[in-house]
Amino acid sequence: MLWLRMGLTHPKKTVSSKAPSPLNGLSPGRPAPTPLLDAPPETICPTQALKEHGNVMTVDYTRCIHCRLCHQQPDQNRMSWEEGYQWAQMTSPRLPHSFRHSLHIRVVDAGDCGACLNELHQLASPVYSLHRLGIAFTPTPRDADVLVITGPITVSMKEAVQEAYQAMPSPKRVVAVGTCALSGGLFASSFALAGPLEKILPVDLSVPGCPPPPLALLHAFQLLMGAKSEEMRTQGVRT
Ligand code: SF4
Ligand code: SF4
Repeated sequence: MLWLRMGLTHPKKTVSSKAPSPLNGLSPGRPAPTPLLDAPPETICPTQALKEHGNVMTVDYTRCIHCRLCHQQPDQNRMSWEEGYQWAQMTSPRLPHSFRHSLHIRVVDAGDCGACLNELHQLASPVYSLHRLGIAFTPTPRDADVLVITGPITVSMKEAVQEAYQAMPSPKRVVAVGTCALSGGLFASSFALAGPLEKILPVDLSVPGCPPPPLALLHAFQLLMGAKSEEMRTQGVRT
């Protein structure tokens, strides 16, 4: 009875899934499309993520590592910076309605530096409390509805990633988490890579970021469950 009274009078504060959180530090933000810069983009961005598109400088979020270099330039060469976390892009239909309140996720580390995995682990903390949404991590792909891959997919992890996918029951979805899984990121030119993930498996949903913050991941899983409408973004241009 005492615990019930304490729970009602001192509830734990969790992050709202319906609106951006007023709490600071939950998202690093990212560069946003900006009028053309004076300097060539390749002299500003170390990962070649900035692209000229008509009169606009756009951002290829599959390459951006959120280093903020483009935001720390003099005025005429500065990219604007946007807050927010709704970064996921879905390329396949969401899961059937029966998954609306139940989603099991198998995570495979395919060469992650540790940061993407850490952000995923944060989801189980009381701050994000993903369990309230019916989402759970599972240790086996045989129980999983969603396969989440982090890291640039090293040659030695290619087979493990493919086997995990084969072991999953249908319907199933593949989620690429982080710049490494999407493009190889900083490791793209390494001889040790078999990735990016799209070369190995059909990717249904991409979550850019290096690493993507927990809210971006939560938003992505909710898209798969059909709990939110997708905010479409393509290569830095809102449509
Ligand atoms: S924040 Fe992204 S777009 Fe800007 S310089 Fe760094 S990698 Fe390039
Ligand atoms: S995307 Fe960035 S944070 Fe994630 S594994 Fe690659 S380097 Fe690490």
